[in-house]
Amino acid sequence: MTQQPAPVAARTRAESLRGLCGGAVHLPGDPAYDMARSPWNLQVDDHPAAVVYPAFPDEVADVLRAASAAGLAVAPQGTGHGAPPLEGRLADAVLLRTSAMTELSVDAGRRTARVGAGVLWGDLTEVAGRSGLAARHPSSPDVGVVGYSLGGGIGWYARELGLQCNAVTAVELVLADGDVVRATADREPDLFWALRGGAAPLGVVTALEFDLFPLATVVAGFLAWDWTAVEEVLPAWVTWCVSAPEQATTSFRLVEVPTTDDVPVELRGRRLAMVDGAVLGDDGTAAEVLAPLRALRPEIDTVARVPASSLVRLHLDPEGPTPAYASSTLVADLPDAAIAAVVDAAGPRSGTRLAAAELRQLGGALGRPDPAGGALSMLDGRFLALGLGLGLPDGGDAAHWERQRADAGRFLAALEPWTTGGHYLPMLDERVDTRKAFPPGVHARLSAIRRSVDPGGLFLAAHPDVPAGG
Ligand SMILES: Cc1cc2nc3c(=O)[nH]c(=O)nc-3n(C[C@H](O)[C@H](O)[C@H](O)COP(=O)(O)OP(=O)(O)OC[C@H]3O[C@@H](n4cnc5c(N)ncnc54)[C@H](O)[C@@H]3O)c2cc1C
Repeated sequence: MTQQPAPVAARTRAESLRGLCGGAVHLPGDPAYDMARSPWNLQVDDHPAAVVYPAFPDEVADVLRAASAAGLAVAPQGTGHGAPPLEGRLADAVLLRTSAMTELSVDAGRRTARVGAGVLWGDLTEVAGRSGLAARHPSSPDVGVVGYSLGGGIGWYARELGLQCNAVTAVELVLADGDVVRATADREPDLFWALRGGAAPLGVVTALEFDLFPLATVVAGFLAWDWTAVEEVLPAWVTWCVSAPEQATTSFRLVEVPTTDDVPVELRGRRLAMVDGAVLGDDGTAAEVLAPLRALRPEIDTVARVPASSLVRLHLDPEGPTPAYASSTLVADLPDAAIAAVVDAAGPRSGTRLAAAELRQLGGALGRPDPAGGALSMLDGRFLALGLGLGLPDGGDAAHWERQRADAGRFLAALEPWTTGGHYLPMLDERVDTRKAFPPGVHARLSAIRRSVDPGGLFLAAHPDVPAGG
């Protein structure tokens, strides 16, 4: 989508940032501006008043003070996987990219990790894996550790271990007034609570510490059928989900397999019904758990014991900057009528062009509040439904994206009678008001904390925080 460049007034005000961050400041018209502003999601084409790349907390503090004095807002961003809900709102803002903060250490004895705000999950899982440790990582290696951990974090061990935000033990951030703070369960407990899943930026996070767990290898992979088998496979998977132990976390997708080099040649471009995921435990347990799915005679079965660090690529998500569109909703249950609605809206006779119509299996630890957890300590609903559109080799024209949005809308609308009414914000490219993501008491506490640490509203939130009664 093409947007207007930042108005001259904002550009002029942003001149006051020149010279900060050791010179890593890019203003409209500068040679590196276009590269500096480009997010992971290439569907988004914003023109911020300035783009800055601080490497240290004191450089972040300088930027916040200068932006505030210039009357500019600040949008912290790691990779830009979550850029779409901000689209069109950066003309009067400084885009603060965190990719220069690359500190990464794993303490094998204490089973913890410490990362700078620019670290990606692929790097963390590789380093942790060398010590036989694993993390509650997402399905894609180039998602940012910090953005994912602040938003919630549903990974392949989620039904056994819960959300990644509940594994976080310390957050270091620079507040709107430039103060550098460290929030833990004992220090700044309100801030610590709100940072774990609370959605809106409360400051610029510079580093994060979180728990890992011992896991060198795990049984994981995918089972796949031609998508014409959906009417047999989907009901069987849903029934399997009811009794599957919490050690198993899977996803069902009607997917168009990408044509990229990292995908086996024989699968490229095919439309499949695919179940992928992981089962914690020994080989015998895993085989027993998966037996009902294997009884459906998958055409492809890659499930095997593999290094835990390889799971970050299990889902075949696109790596590197990609034009994408994602929309999702939380689903309470999938009775027969809901399954039929999914098949009608996204199955072989639907005419869909979606890259994936996905159902992620929730429940287990994800469905129970974590007593020590943060603002988002659990997810309501037994499934998360996600419609995903990807660009064509040339990116795709407006008609392509309209069709992707329409097809995702059709898939999610078909499930409307069975939704919880709630949303998981990190998987939503459309803006929704945050009351749809949190119970009223949690929402009110989050709004109050946000007003107390950012009274001037310096930070741009991806989703609008409408105060109670608003
Ligand atoms: C291909 C793909 C796969 C995904 N897989 C999963 C998955 O398996 N499970 C899951 O739960 N989610 C998944 N997501 C959603 C993902 O968790 C969110 O998009 C997440 O916000 C990405 O974080 P990021 O830092 O990479 O993105 P960014 O766009 O950089 O950040 C997203 C938001 O996080 C906040 N933020 C980021 N860095 C900072 C900082 N340093 N300080 C303060 N605020 C900050 C900002 O509000 C920012 O707008 C996936 C998304 C994509 C596109």
